[in-house]
Amino acid sequence: MHEFSVMSDVMEALKEESLKHSFKGVKEVVLEVGVLTFLAHEQLRFSYKVLSEGTVFDGSELSIEDRPAMIRCESCGYEGEGGFRDEPGFHRVMPTFSCPKCDEPTSVVSGNECIIRRIVADVEE
Ligand SMILES: [Zn+2]
Repeated sequence: MHEFSVMSDVMEALKEESLKHSFKGVKEVVLEVGVLTFLAHEQLRFSYKVLSEGTVFDGSELSIEDRPAMIRCESCGYEGEGGFRDEPGFHRVMPTFSCPKCDEPTSVVSGNECIIRRIVADVEE
């Protein structure tokens, strides 16, 4: 299960933050998940629940926000959201985007990452 290994990495990063800021009780963690990661949100939530057991994150809520695919065209300089369509075939292969302006292949700037956006927690004074 890919989601579980991704969430393991996220949990490691969360624990590091927790040590840095001495969290007492965590209420909510907001994750931004790129649409190109094809991670299933339910699986992420399940993994979070399992991995947070016994930690300061136990019982907190995991909110997941979509992060859009941004592309850049080297030929004409276009930058913007990629024309991603939710087709079943795309869940197997990494889609490539052609530029909406000049139809040349583009490079993906963002959308394939998983970012910790916000942690809502009490901290020790
Ligand atoms: Zn272009």
